[in-house]
Amino acid sequence: MSVIDLELDPFYGAFIDGKFDTDARNRAAASDPATGEHLADVASCDAADVDRAVSAAAAAFESWGRTLPEERSRALHRLADLIEADAERLARIDSRDVGRHIREMREDYRMAVEQFRYFASIVLAHEDFGRPIPGGYSIAKRVPLGVCGQIIPWNDPVVMLAFKLAPALAAGNTVVLKPDVNASLATLEICKHLSAVLPPGVVNVVPGTGTEVGTAISGHPGVRKLAFTGSTEVGRLIAEAAAQRLIPATLELGGKSPNIVFPDIDDLDAVVADATAAVVVCNGQSCLAGTRLFVHEDIYDEFVRRLVEHFAGLVVGAPLDEDTDVSCMISARQGERVLAYIETGRAEGARLLHGGKRLAVDGCPTGYFIEPTIFEATATMRIAQEEIFGPVLTVIRWNDYETMIAEANGTRYGLASGIYTSNLNSALETADRLEAGSVWINHYANLHGGTPFGGFKDSGLGREYCRETLNAYSQLKSITIHTAAEKDS
Ligand code: NAP
Ligand code: MG
Repeated sequence: MSVIDLELDPFYGAFIDGKFDTDARNRAAASDPATGEHLADVASCDAADVDRAVSAAAAAFESWGRTLPEERSRALHRLADLIEADAERLARIDSRDVGRHIREMREDYRMAVEQFRYFASIVLAHEDFGRPIPGGYSIAKRVPLGVCGQIIPWNDPVVMLAFKLAPALAAGNTVVLKPDVNASLATLEICKHLSAVLPPGVVNVVPGTGTEVGTAISGHPGVRKLAFTGSTEVGRLIAEAAAQRLIPATLELGGKSPNIVFPDIDDLDAVVADATAAVVVCNGQSCLAGTRLFVHEDIYDEFVRRLVEHFAGLVVGAPLDEDTDVSCMISARQGERVLAYIETGRAEGARLLHGGKRLAVDGCPTGYFIEPTIFEATATMRIAQEEIFGPVLTVIRWNDYETMIAEANGTRYGLASGIYTSNLNSALETADRLEAGSVWINHYANLHGGTPFGGFKDSGLGREYCRETLNAYSQLKSITIHTAAEKDS
């Protein structure tokens, strides 16, 4: 598909107070990581732009913060409809901008639309509550926080956007959001849909780098809440900025999730396929990827044989090719980082069972296509401890249950986990023992509206995609009415 069919603008300025800036002192090129083709220019904003955005959001909050949930719900449903109607084009923009394959990007749009509809629906039941007290009545109201500063990464642009915007807007807040420099285009295109549905200033998008725009958002005195998805290292900086100003922060950070195969599974091939999808999703550039596969000794040899066979059958190809299973890394930097981890694995004595190389794909001269890779490793090796963010799986053999649980919990992360077994007791006992925000039994990454998502330990703070998220975007105010019906009370 040519760039013309994507209907991109040649230049995207910041989206502030319902309008795109038409000029910018600094611009950065957005390009297709697979082909190197230039897609559009995007403003590289600075602290002064963030300041204008926060002012616009603060002004918009005066009225948006007082709207009824019904009005916000209608706006979010309309936004979901507009994004759904434009999803194929937007998915192609993301596919070209970030290098992920088109079938996956369509799935991301389905999930993002579901996210807007989910919060549009549950906000109607997010009641205030009250109760009689001696001599009166007390009401506890949920009120919005104000301007929320949100910073998102490049791996799932539209899912990240929806996870951040939908609950913030449903709860009555206004937003200043920074997309990732490597993945701004679809977000800026979606601003056109936002302006059709929301009053000016309710959502402002300020593209630019983390060091310039990100720090200006996290340190701005007008911002009343921070929400961040990305690395644990930057997450810590965001938490520090929030602590300085005593504002809440929700953080969705890295992962190194265990995926555990018991010997009693009944369909080995189905588990092989599911465990493969768990690690190659987003070309492995996913915080929730199931990157540490614990396989029980009794089935180990046969399981690993079929796993290698399955990996060998994956189609590594161009992002817009419908047959592609694994596509290209977001950037040369990320590609080199993944290749360096593969070298680390070899150097520390892990056994390479499949893959390990950069592949060439026709028509994609600049892309870093990394062969889906399997290492047999031990749990303490670096490649089994650190987040690689590429299609690299470490397989770990287990026999003793307690040792396996200790190893599964033996990283600094605690985002997600998987279990494959036909025994309900093993499944539930193991689910209880795992230090992870999500446990998926017999189907990895089984995420739906209303299933809380977020991390234990260094994987973050707070939960997204659930009712609790609305609480995290609001605060309680109690109003106590003294009717003097009872004297001296
Ligand atoms: P990152 O540095 O944490 O970036 C995430 C977002 O934070 C980007 O929008 C980034 O801006 C911004 N940012 C960077 N420094 C900031 C600062 N000091 N203050 C405020 N915002 C700041 O992640 P990355 O460099 O893209 O990836 C590095 C590693 O992080 C990956 O290899 C992976 O291990 C992990 N990661 C995890 C997730 C996840 O979903 N949990 C997502 C992405 C990455 P820029 O636009 O300038 O980058
Ligand atoms: Mg790009």
